[in-house]
Amino acid sequence: MLTGVQVVLVGGDARQLEVIRRLTELDATVTLIGFDRLDTPFSGVAKAEWSPDAVRNADALVLPAVGTDDEGLISTLFTDQELKLTEAHLAAIPKKCKLITGMAKPFLRMLCEKFHVELVELFERDDVAIYNSIPTAEGALMMAIQNTDITVHDSNCMVLGLGRTGLTMARTLLAIGAHVKVGVRKDEAFARAFEMGFEPFYMPELARHAGNIDLIFNTIPTMIVTAQVIAQLPLRACIIDLASKPGGTDFRFAEKRGIKALLAPGLPGIVAPKTAGRIIANSLTQIILEDNRLRGNKL
Ligand code: NAP
Repeated sequence: MLTGVQVVLVGGDARQLEVIRRLTELDATVTLIGFDRLDTPFSGVAKAEWSPDAVRNADALVLPAVGTDDEGLISTLFTDQELKLTEAHLAAIPKKCKLITGMAKPFLRMLCEKFHVELVELFERDDVAIYNSIPTAEGALMMAIQNTDITVHDSNCMVLGLGRTGLTMARTLLAIGAHVKVGVRKDEAFARAFEMGFEPFYMPELARHAGNIDLIFNTIPTMIVTAQVIAQLPLRACIIDLASKPGGTDFRFAEKRGIKALLAPGLPGIVAPKTAGRIIANSLTQIILEDNRLRGNKL
């Protein structure tokens, strides 16, 4: 249980509702900031204004999936107020407090380093990335269906990168009957792809494999679907780029050639906010529980 543990949640979207629910179930003392339009009643939860005082006694400060933007603005669906994380807030955070978010931009990392605040990025954790790959693959499949006039079954698909997202994507496509080529760079990934029934190739061969492709799903966060690759694709092809912004596709050239190319960030929060919220809630409460246990042992 989290009895007596003070958690301050600032901003966010529907995913945070699952986090609030889980924290209150575990009896944490929860303060919400930037939730004035929230209709769902949570018993025993206080609302507060965003000020350095609000974080002075926190054991955990929870920011949304993308912590802040490059100027410190915290995104929120539940208020019209502007929530900005400043040096004054960081200076007020007590030593025992962890700042927990999905992923941090350089601005947030820099502030945490400067004020010696422990930053936890949930999406960097393997378990969270693997759980998140499930709604990501489902969302990508939805986009594929919406943007093609053929079935995914029997289509020629290509997945670039066989990491946590790529593996789930490739498996999902294979399971519904697509022919799945997988672009990798390591021998062990090539062997695993072969073992799992995909058709692997090494990334330098990408352009050569592009000739008869209906759908490309990219998970490699670097420029990989270049003009040279796009030039080899048939005009019917559709590129769904799952890699974090700005993606790994030459979108300008794709548009010029008349090939559909879509950057698809944040799919878990879009297609399955409840599941995505539960994934965050599970991991976050596990971290706070463990922290609380260790602190209890030290006393
Ligand atoms: P990951 O497990 O690290 O996988 C990345 C894959 O890219 C690995 O297979 C890696 O190969 C490969 N790779 C990286 N650089 C490469 C290069 N230069 N050439 C060839 N292969 C390269 O990451 P992940 O968790 O799957 O996430 C992948 C991307 O998707 C990230 O940008 C992440 O932010 C994004 N993402 C998006 C959504 C969404 O909703 N769109 C959801 C979740 C994640 P090696 O194994 O050889 O290093």
